[in-house]
Amino acid sequence: MSAMLEVKDLEVAYGKILAVKKISFSVEQGQVVSLIGTNGAGKTTTLKTISGLLRPNAGEIWFQGERIDHVAAHDIVSRGLAHSPEGRRIFPRLSVEENLMLGAFARRDPAGVRADLQTAYDLFPILGERRKQPAGTFSGGEQQMLAMGRAMMSRPKLMMLDEPSMGLSPIMMKRIMSTVTELQQQGTTILLVEQNAQAALKRADFGYVLEVGKIVLSGTGRDLLVNDSVRKAYLGED
Ligand code: ATP
Repeated sequence: MSAMLEVKDLEVAYGKILAVKKISFSVEQGQVVSLIGTNGAGKTTTLKTISGLLRPNAGEIWFQGERIDHVAAHDIVSRGLAHSPEGRRIFPRLSVEENLMLGAFARRDPAGVRADLQTAYDLFPILGERRKQPAGTFSGGEQQMLAMGRAMMSRPKLMMLDEPSMGLSPIMMKRIMSTVTELQQQGTTILLVEQNAQAALKRADFGYVLEVGKIVLSGTGRDLLVNDSVRKAYLGED
């Protein structure tokens, strides 16, 4: 069986700067796959290209057996691929609930949407308690929960999370990371981008290490966690 997501020889440039240099990787259905790497490695660029916000210079992206590298971003969401972006990108003047509902824009099943709204409130009670509040008043961690909740509202088959732990307290980070596991248990496939390699690899069925636009290492989460070069470069060990 082919993978749920397949990225083949992907190249992405900003003008003359090649940010992603011929990378190939895949995500199998039901897996959590982590993409780790330092600042500027090309992680965000890769996710934005998969979700149709950037166009590749070369290469192919396949989702559920269909090529999507020239499909419009809203159509990609409708096909079941959601993106919780770095820096949250919530709409600050809209209420929490309005932000969540934006995630469901492509759905035609109001009863299902209401049920998923309740699921998001069960998962992150603070979103329910403050559903009428402008999202811009939320703290960084709360906005992160909102961004994840919004991505969940499209009921995705594959959810891409861009640095969900960024700027969070250790306790909030634990919460977000255990949500990743919960989502996986509910059947969502996850592509997780993180600078926090420890947290990301612990939960990953498979991982890829990206350095200046190239994949330099791959393996199971467990293998990468004990890999010497990963330990030195990403886990701060001598
Ligand atoms: P970070 O964790 O810091 O977000 P990243 O791995 O997600 O890093 P990208 O944001 O994908 O990395 O950036 C990859 C490269 O592309 C970097 O060299 C960056 O400076 C460059 N880049 C990113 N966005 C743009 C842009 N809009 N215009 C020009 N160059 C860009």
